[in-house]
Amino acid sequence: MEFTVAIDGPAAAGKGTISKAVAAHFGFAHLDTGLLYRAVGAKVLDGVEPIEAARNLTPSDLESEALRTSDIAQAASKVAVISEVRAALVAFQRTFAQQDTGAVLDGRDIGTVICPDAAVKLYVTASPECRAERRYLELSAKGHDVTRDGVLADVKARDARDSGRAEAPMRPAEDAILIDTSDMTIEEAVARAIEAIEAVRA
Ligand code: C5P
Repeated sequence: MEFTVAIDGPAAAGKGTISKAVAAHFGFAHLDTGLLYRAVGAKVLDGVEPIEAARNLTPSDLESEALRTSDIAQAASKVAVISEVRAALVAFQRTFAQQDTGAVLDGRDIGTVICPDAAVKLYVTASPECRAERRYLELSAKGHDVTRDGVLADVKARDARDSGRAEAPMRPAEDAILIDTSDMTIEEAVARAIEAIEAVRA
């Protein structure tokens, strides 16, 4: 039977790590929906028109490690305000959510727009400073040329764009369970998410 877990929240709050751990724990398929917007953003930086890029996305477009840069993150959040871009990506996400194995999708609008009937909805957040510090450590460990102030400014700009847009703004669904990871270890956050899912599956 299909069982969908929707995990939303801002950048670097821990939702990617939680989603992967939850998928591994329950044997669910996992889709990081941010990659769809990043892949469109990357194509736009290469000169492709955004709606055209979204309509012609292929699974192999999602595989590049290069999609993880700050420039592509900003480009992603700019294309994500375009309603035709979002519309072009809906069917792929909903089909993914209907797998028999169960599925976890993480993003910004999964619980509100893509899968409003998801069995479990989590909204994973943390303070901007905390998220920026984590993202700074992650990017600098990978050899990216970043500063703490620059990463914090990027995080805040993306939060403002993602939560201020008219179409599918980033926000918790009314029935979402909030997990603030500011003062949690990743193990605690994962345990909290697993507990919330088990409560529904039981
Ligand atoms: O999650 P990630 O940081 O990879 O997402 C990149 C950008 O894609 C976000 O800042 C947001 O603008 C957009 N996005 C979205 N809806 C989603 C997932 C990502 O608008 N479901």
